[in-house]
Amino acid sequence: MASEGVLIYGGGISGMVAAYNLVRKGHDVVVREREAGFGGWDIFNPSTHTTPLDLEATSEYIGIDISPAFHPVSSLSVYLHDFRLEMPVFMAYHVERSSREESLDFLLYEKCREAGVSFEFERPLEEGEIDSLPPGTIIACGLSPEAYDYLGIPYQRVYAWMARGEKEYHNYAWMWLDECINEYGYISFCNGIYFNLLFSYGQEVSREGLERYREFMLRVEGIQDENWRQFNGAVPVATGDNPRLQRKGLIMCGTMSGCFDPFMGFGISGALVAGKVAATAVNDMDKAQGEFDRFTRHFANVLRFKEEVWYPLRARVDLLEEIARILGPQRAIRIALEALKQGRKKSAIPGFSPLSCH
Ligand SMILES: Cc1cc2nc3c(=O)[nH]c(=O)nc-3n(C[C@H](O)[C@H](O)[C@H](O)COP(=O)(O)OP(=O)(O)OC[C@H]3O[C@@H](n4cnc5c(N)ncnc54)[C@H](O)[C@@H]3O)c2cc1C
Repeated sequence: MASEGVLIYGGGISGMVAAYNLVRKGHDVVVREREAGFGGWDIFNPSTHTTPLDLEATSEYIGIDISPAFHPVSSLSVYLHDFRLEMPVFMAYHVERSSREESLDFLLYEKCREAGVSFEFERPLEEGEIDSLPPGTIIACGLSPEAYDYLGIPYQRVYAWMARGEKEYHNYAWMWLDECINEYGYISFCNGIYFNLLFSYGQEVSREGLERYREFMLRVEGIQDENWRQFNGAVPVATGDNPRLQRKGLIMCGTMSGCFDPFMGFGISGALVAGKVAATAVNDMDKAQGEFDRFTRHFANVLRFKEEVWYPLRARVDLLEEIARILGPQRAIRIALEALKQGRKKSAIPGFSPLSCH
């Protein structure tokens, strides 16, 4: 059994999956987390996220049964302005990020503690220490721009308005497309809480944009939210070769490694498998690199498709709405589903492409 120590910066999803897998291989593992406790980045948590996921294959791959933390999405409405497409939902889940008992973070933290992982809280990665970290240190700092800057990782800044609170809705989600943002607005619910996000890449979301979203919510969904605040972070979708398992002799993990869906911004499933890959990299870099390449093999093509095809289309929501109205919801949904199926084939992230874990 190995007994060397491994240092991990970032005690979120991928950092804890890596820690658990390493301690089970006999390593002494210390996780250094910037926040005062587990539960992820407290600027946006508690939050609820929605993600495509192959729950069984992912649990098997990472060696942790994560199913208690994931709740099937019952329905998803995609809105082009006010025009609603009611999408059939399959293999999509809500999951809570926080330190509460129902959250994914709680499940992973308990697993890590039982297995013997040590945690140091309020211990951030600092720029000045990068060059003196032991080779093989794992960096899993999520969407925090400072860590990208320290390591010279190209990124897009994500600008968002977010609102969250307690509310017992059904297991429902929506997505909203409008010209005031280049990404989307969404809401997801689970465990009696909700999280509402309106976001763009590379450009701030104006107050007028937020007002449009709020008017839509009230007019169409009958929901009012008052507690909005701004958030910004980093996502590794700046270039097609963003995905890297190693930088400066350190092991990249989770969203920072680029194991991330570049089309919709889903990061949960990629973070889970990237944690296992980073743990493998400590003892067998060649094997880990093979796994990493497998999970990220379509990243560049999907990003190119998004930039060259989707963004020009996406900028004309009025046109998309008109086409959907002419086709009628049923045919529009069939076409959207076919596009989604093709997208799933092209994505190597498990869950988005259900067979890719095997
Ligand atoms: C607002 C928001 C909404 C999202 N919604 C969805 C969604 O609906 N579906 C989906 O699939 N994905 C979503 N994502 C993406 C997804 O949450 C992330 O891709 C995923 O959580 C990343 O996992 P990770 O392990 O890489 O990082 P995280 O789980 O974020 O963990 C990173 C950890 O590192 C810590 N940290 C940061 N900087 C430092 C430092 N300098 N030193 C030490 N520790 C540090 C943080 O506090 C945090 O605990 C969303 C992201 C955001 C920000």
